[in-house]
Amino acid sequence: MGQQVVILLGPPGAGKGTQAVRLAEAEGVPHISTGDLFRANLGQGTALGERAKGFMNAGKLVPDELVIEMLFDRVGEPDCERGYLLDGFPRTIPQAEALGRALGEHVVLSCVELEVPDEAIVERASGRLICADCGNIQHARFSPPKVAGTCDACGGSLEQREDDRPEVVRERLAVYHEQTAPLSAHYEKQGVLTRVDGERDPDAVFDSVRAALRGAGAQG
Ligand code: AMP
Repeated sequence: MGQQVVILLGPPGAGKGTQAVRLAEAEGVPHISTGDLFRANLGQGTALGERAKGFMNAGKLVPDELVIEMLFDRVGEPDCERGYLLDGFPRTIPQAEALGRALGEHVVLSCVELEVPDEAIVERASGRLICADCGNIQHARFSPPKVAGTCDACGGSLEQREDDRPEVVRERLAVYHEQTAPLSAHYEKQGVLTRVDGERDPDAVFDSVRAALRGAGAQG
């Protein structure tokens, strides 16, 4: 069986991370989030983290060459041999082209786009809480923690992301429309794209995403 690579597309705060965690668990493949990789580098104070920091905190994209190198290092690890799930990559046409060149002939590529309108994005991001310890994502209104400030999954500390402040979210959305939204047409042209209504509750979205992947043959 060839390698199966799944790309989750959609604006920031569309629910890619939430869906990716569940999907990775259900499918037994690693969840690769370039945002998480950058945040881990930031937390560890690496040189890469230092270079990415200013871009991230301003809501801008980190330059392609940095992201691509970091991503290829990660997907070259043995746990990605059978396949992997990409969340937050690619985000530009050059990133998509680099990925396309790197994937072998026998790779089954599927892309699922979570569609969520801009108005809903700002509201979602402003309440989003992320666990500093395990990366679990909750929401002040939509999935409130049982104990304030504490992760339901691991008991770690829930925090707001620096780049989820409203003015940064608006910048991230503008960047999304300008640089990332064109990927939808790019993958549609390749015949590998399914669009899913991301505005419903996470269980309903999950069912649609799995159905989309089954349809695409990405579920052996
Ligand atoms: P995310 O957690 O996916 O929202 O990513 C957080 C931030 O990391 C983004 O706003 C960018 O600054 C940076 N980032 C993550 N993935 C990429 C990517 N594929 N290309 C460029 N920048 C990225």
